[in-house]
Amino acid sequence: MPAAAKKPKYRRIVLKISGEALRNDATGEPIDSKVLDRLADELRALQKIGAQVAVVVGGGNIFRGLAGARSNGTDRTTGDNMGMLATVINGLALMDRLEKAGLEVRVMTAIPMDRIAEPFIQRRATRHLERGRIVVFVAGTGNPYCTTDYAAALRANEIGADAILKATKVDGVYDKDPMKHRDARRFERVSHEEALRKRLGVMDAEAFSLCEANHLPIIVLSMAEKGAVLRAVLGQRVGTLVG
Ligand code: UDP
Repeated sequence: MPAAAKKPKYRRIVLKISGEALRNDATGEPIDSKVLDRLADELRALQKIGAQVAVVVGGGNIFRGLAGARSNGTDRTTGDNMGMLATVINGLALMDRLEKAGLEVRVMTAIPMDRIAEPFIQRRATRHLERGRIVVFVAGTGNPYCTTDYAAALRANEIGADAILKATKVDGVYDKDPMKHRDARRFERVSHEEALRKRLGVMDAEAFSLCEANHLPIIVLSMAEKGAVLRAVLGQRVGTLVG
């Protein structure tokens, strides 16, 4: 069946892209042009099937507040502000590439910076989505001591998303670290409750409990797997479905 004839299982989604997923490990460049191109292809495919797409970008490829505090003694709040600004850099890079690929995009920020991006206003965000625009949420929640996973959970609830897709470097949720253990087993599907009980570390605890409380499914998948995002939105088996 051609993709256009298919219907999304999840009509409105939040795609969380970690900063690490944007990095080029070979060259060390924080933002890999090829990853941006692939993202543009994936998002275009989602629009073709009528899915409404919001994106939350991380900033870990550039700066993390906690890591800064540990390694060079940066004040945690200052470091977190730096981390949130890092997400703005990633979001603008994504916007640029998506626009060049012919997609209509709006960047909405949790920290006011009117020359660069629109402020996040829930109703305005949903209106953009209804009009077929891709909305990129940047600057996390606007608060230190938070993560962009939490921002994704928050925004997903605010805009009434049907699911969060968490795109990382790993292709799902495992019972132990697959980078360290060759016998690590990937879960195909797991309930929120089981993920919590088994401490599977799908997201940080605050973000996860926000999803659990609101019965929001989370699909963890690999950014590197071509077409994985589309398949997940169509309801096909890919990565790990939490929910
Ligand atoms: N951050 C923050 N508040 C937020 C979101 C992010 O302070 O609401 C900061 C925090 O320092 C974090 C950094 O921004 O480490 C980058 O975000 P994150 O680590 O979530 O990015 P990812 O791991 O997804 O690349």
